[in-house]
Amino acid sequence: MNNFEFLNPTKIIFGEGTVEQVGKEAAAFGDKALLVYGGGSIKKTGLYDKVTRQLADNGIEVFELGGIEPNPRLATVRKGIDICRANGIGFILAVGGGSVIDAAKGIAAGVPYEGDVWDFYVRKATCKAALPLGSVLTLSATGSEMNGGSVVTNWEENLKLAHLSIHTYPKFSILDPTLTYTVPADQTAYGSVDMMTHVFEQYFSHTADTPLQERLCESILKTVIENAPKAIANPEDYAARANLMLCGTYALNGGMISVGVANDWASHGIEHELSAIYDIPHGAGLSIVYPNWMKYVYKERIERFVQFAVRVWDVDPAGKSDEEIALEGIQATRDFFTRIGAPATLAEVGIGDDRLAEMAAKAVQFGPLGHFKRLNQEDVERIYRLSL
Ligand code: NAP
Ligand code: FE
Repeated sequence: MNNFEFLNPTKIIFGEGTVEQVGKEAAAFGDKALLVYGGGSIKKTGLYDKVTRQLADNGIEVFELGGIEPNPRLATVRKGIDICRANGIGFILAVGGGSVIDAAKGIAAGVPYEGDVWDFYVRKATCKAALPLGSVLTLSATGSEMNGGSVVTNWEENLKLAHLSIHTYPKFSILDPTLTYTVPADQTAYGSVDMMTHVFEQYFSHTADTPLQERLCESILKTVIENAPKAIANPEDYAARANLMLCGTYALNGGMISVGVANDWASHGIEHELSAIYDIPHGAGLSIVYPNWMKYVYKERIERFVQFAVRVWDVDPAGKSDEEIALEGIQATRDFFTRIGAPATLAEVGIGDDRLAEMAAKAVQFGPLGHFKRLNQEDVERIYRLSL
């Protein structure tokens, strides 16, 4: 196990009805808030009314930035920064999925910074301070509710880049599983794929002597595998929604399963190029790419893939070679993604082979990707080709 430090400052408020606490929590951060939300799902579900009433009841003046895009855009983040600066706003409340929370983090980091917020994403500057932010999560997927990461798309340059900072962890996140009852089947599937792949990025590692982290990973994976189909079949199954929500949060919260372990993250880099150009849902892109990454790299440490197949997918190892067991586990992953309705090929989401070389070049712009196997531009292009 590697040495590590772990600090996660986000307060999690979990359970049915907890949205009633948002006003009180927000009031701790002043009397002016920027309410950030997406394309309107929170207005349809009535959550917008509940939240704004709560904020008003707690004496908070509300400014708004709605219309955050899935795969949130830099231009929108800049708009939020302008609103905060013009009105002396000291707190941001994100109400939505990962895209909304990520946009709120970009705004939070950008307000006190004298340069352009994009500097953080292109690694030209380090974030030294951010406005406090809180979140009310409406979609189980990214873990953004309990981590310092944000992913923003510069649409003009077709670049989708991530920024991580200790300053952009939400101060609090309200996780009410009933708020995810209205998430449609496809987004439930993409979110489930996203959280599973977050676990994969931390599980497929060369670090030795990490049995606790490995078993935690396997538990999260098994819990998603059990609960995603239930939530899709019965969107108002509280237990299924609650378990998925907790899995998403545990899968990527800056520690828990990643401490002491070399993480990979190549597949996320490969996916970000797809959504940067073709604007596809992140989880759909990962569903296409991840099993192909697995096939490309499994020989680097076949024992880990054997363990994955046996412990997560209950593959019977009797009479089989390591290679056969590993490949059965990878196929089981692909079959599960297909079973819950996530795509398997780029063709299914309308992507051909015309920009693969460009995407591969952009994916490695900061150097080779990954840790489990270092991937150069050629490797990345091969994985795109396997995904056609
Ligand atoms: P999302 O992009 O936030 O939302 C996807 C769609 O689901 C939107 O159309 C949204 O509609 C809808 N939706 C959300 N909640 C809903 C609800 N309760 N009922 C009905 N519809 C609902 O999805 P996401 O998967 O959570 O976030 C994806 C983004 O996060 C990507 O950009 C990805 O790269 C990034 N990401 C971030 C991290 C991180 O650690 N920060 C990790 C992985 C991925 P409305 O817009 O109308 O609300
Ligand atoms: Fe992700």
